[in-house]
Amino acid sequence: MIIKQIWTGNAYRNFNYLIACPETGEAMAIDPLDHEKCLDAAKARGWQITQVLNTHEHFDHIGGNEKVIAATGAKLLAHANAGDAIPGMDRGLKAGDWVKVGNTVELEVLDTPGHTMSHVCLLSHTETPALFCGDTLFNAGAGNCHHGGHPEELYGTFAGQLAQLADNTRIYPGHDYLVNNLEFTLNREPDNEQARDLLGDVRDQDPNAALISTLAMEKEINTFFRLHSPTVIARLREAFPDLPEQPDPGMVFLKLRELRNSW
Ligand SMILES: [Zn+2]
Ligand SMILES: [Zn+2]
Repeated sequence: MIIKQIWTGNAYRNFNYLIACPETGEAMAIDPLDHEKCLDAAKARGWQITQVLNTHEHFDHIGGNEKVIAATGAKLLAHANAGDAIPGMDRGLKAGDWVKVGNTVELEVLDTPGHTMSHVCLLSHTETPALFCGDTLFNAGAGNCHHGGHPEELYGTFAGQLAQLADNTRIYPGHDYLVNNLEFTLNREPDNEQARDLLGDVRDQDPNAALISTLAMEKEINTFFRLHSPTVIARLREAFPDLPEQPDPGMVFLKLRELRNSW
């Protein structure tokens, strides 16, 4: 499996992806908003885009579909319940389905509600697993729930699915929000040395060669995985004095998500 991360350079800081089979040159484009960059990247490598996959229905993820499909004849895949919101869907996906690209690439479909209620993530079962997580999980952060999502469902996805993946899973999110998210982590957990060190390393990074984190790293630097941290809980109590002595992790997650909304 060959993964090409494409930095759009737009105001929303989207990442698009091409996933290719090295044997056949067939490729799938994930959320190819910047259709020109995606088509050019495929052409430069001799790849044929045969599928377009949308992680969810927001415009900054589906906005390039038409142009890519017009140029390639690719089939359009998305969550089975996203059909009303995503024009021209050819295949509706549900949890446990597999998406194949060429001879060698197989990706498991995860049904990951929260950011929206019809959001999928894709997981490769390769030696080093790869997770394409749209706007559910970001580097050092979590998706918001402002446009069709629910924080309780997002917590369920984090705790029940994402946190259970292998520690060496590489994380490929739909946006580059790493610096801003690390600053939020440090606002919530000022003694998080790993987040502080990483922020120093990536503050001026070129998004064309962005850091690819792992789940193990996220568990250290992403406040939405640090629900048992005494510092996180103590700082949360400053904002929410009624917080119980030992808040359950779901409550911590929801309060963090609430603070992040206005941070
Ligand atoms: Zn979104
Ligand atoms: Zn987005």
